[in-house]
Amino acid sequence: MKAIKECFPVSFLCRYIIFCFVILILGCVRSQPQVDRFKELRENMVATQIEARGITNREVIEAMRNVERHLFVPETHIQHAYGDHPLPIGYGQTISQPYIVAFMTEILKLDKSSKVLEVGTGSGYQAAILAEICDSVYTIEIVEELGMRSSLLFKNLGYSNIKVKIGDGYEGWDEYSPFDAIIVTCAPTHVPEPLKNQLKEGGRMIIPVGERYVQELVLLTRKKGSLKQTSVLPVRFVPMVDEKDMIY
Ligand code: SAH
Repeated sequence: MKAIKECFPVSFLCRYIIFCFVILILGCVRSQPQVDRFKELRENMVATQIEARGITNREVIEAMRNVERHLFVPETHIQHAYGDHPLPIGYGQTISQPYIVAFMTEILKLDKSSKVLEVGTGSGYQAAILAEICDSVYTIEIVEELGMRSSLLFKNLGYSNIKVKIGDGYEGWDEYSPFDAIIVTCAPTHVPEPLKNQLKEGGRMIIPVGERYVQELVLLTRKKGSLKQTSVLPVRFVPMVDEKDMIY
């Protein structure tokens, strides 16, 4: 009898542990197809939108394969996260089309030791792609809520190599300059002078330049002190604005 009494709490505990374990398994079984579905969509995105269109850099392709884009889009658009188009992320802003993200990343010719500045954190997706490839990523966002949201997401996903600043990216981030590469994901009407000055010798900057609906993706390279500028692709990005919502 004594033995039975002593056993009771143990068997109760055992049953409780088994119950929790079953709940956990059921949870996993239920969400697994969803996870696999996103992985499948991501693989398909890389094959049909990235590789098929000529992106060849292995690190860029790996990063596009690794970063779970659906975690960066609002819940309401999650099923379209891997579609061949930009998506709204709130506050009138958008996450860029996957191909544009890959194209802009590839053209910067990054490696592990690169220090990169991004202007326009938005959803944080582009910064996460950069952070898969490089040691240090600095990103600036003018909409406080977006900057805070991305900052929290980077923390949750373990991207300790991304630093977020909330402010006007027109001024760049002097404290950490010069940068090996600068990527701007909102469109000013001209290339900001402070960004030019923060580009290292041998560095590369990719930036959409133009009016609200007609812009060119421009590549700037600094060689022997001077900047060479070439247009690479017609694009349409959200405008770069200042803190009073004026378009630069
Ligand atoms: N790279 C982002 C794309 C975001 S869209 C992504 O992967 O999701 C462009 C972003 O630039 C918007 O979030 C917008 O708020 C921001 N932006 C516009 N003007 C800015 C400025 N002057 N400084 C910093 N960010 C700016």
